[in-house]
Amino acid sequence: MTDAPDLETILGRVAGASGPLVVLTGAGISAESGIPTFRGPEGYWRVGSRNYRPMELATQAAFRAVPDDVWGWYLYRRAVCRAARPNAAHLALVELDRSLSDVFLVTQNVDGLHLRAGHSPERTFQIHGNIDFMRCAAECCRDVIPIPAAIGDSWEKGRLPGERERGLLRCARCGAATRPHVLWFDECYDEERYRYESALAAAREADLLLVAGTSGATTLPVRAGELAARSGAAIVDVNPEPNPFRDLALSVPRGAAASGRSAEILPEIVDRLLAVR
Ligand code: NAD
Repeated sequence: MTDAPDLETILGRVAGASGPLVVLTGAGISAESGIPTFRGPEGYWRVGSRNYRPMELATQAAFRAVPDDVWGWYLYRRAVCRAARPNAAHLALVELDRSLSDVFLVTQNVDGLHLRAGHSPERTFQIHGNIDFMRCAAECCRDVIPIPAAIGDSWEKGRLPGERERGLLRCARCGAATRPHVLWFDECYDEERYRYESALAAAREADLLLVAGTSGATTLPVRAGELAARSGAAIVDVNPEPNPFRDLALSVPRGAAASGRSAEILPEIVDRLLAVR
């Protein structure tokens, strides 16, 4: 449960913000839709006799060494995402997006739930990609295409792609293998694929940065937080656990933090924002 003083401070902060709004979301916002975060036992993946951490497997190096295992891991996670439904937090943010013209969503999530909930694609920056898409691993072109429907929606944990699936996961232009359309830990952000500059520009201009469900472990979100803080934005963090964004929010004059679940707290924040705008 949220404790009341936190929430009242937060509602006061959001009510006082009048300019552009940036919402920054991480895996925690989808936890209540049944998609595990990278923390805890669900994050681990077995290859041969070894358990891999996501930070080891979500890499170009792993894809080069064990491509079938990496694809198997992604197809399993994709199946979990496809079976999930947007929760009250995603839906509240859609209401915000539909009601105000100056809301930008920067999401680290690859599950596509914000878009499936109805968030406008042009104002949604999926800075780590989308697990439902793939692209040529040999980079013969810039096409980003949906994973073929023939792969199916379900995928058992530990299953590897066989000859049939490997045939489906090929580039239609050059015939090379494809790769998941996600940013790996040993790769760099860019504007074309991941909207890097757009996300930072939005953070720089924000009057309110609303952060929900992220541990702040990746560089772009941390940078976005620093830029918003530097320009004097209000910063609000929603997370049941201590995290660097909570520290940031509590260090700025117009900051506040709620220790609680995003599906519970974001609808209240959105209601308040819409009541004053
Ligand atoms: P993370 O797993 O490192 O941290 C998740 C955060 O969410 C934690 O701080 C946790 O306390 C918080 N949290 C848990 N339940 C919550 C709830 N109900 N409400 C609010 N907060 C809650 O995740 P991250 O910081 O987003 O990022 C790490 C990487 O993991 C990213 O690259 C992301 O692409 C990837 N990832 C994405 C998904 C997804 O798309 N759903 C799932 C797992 C990991």
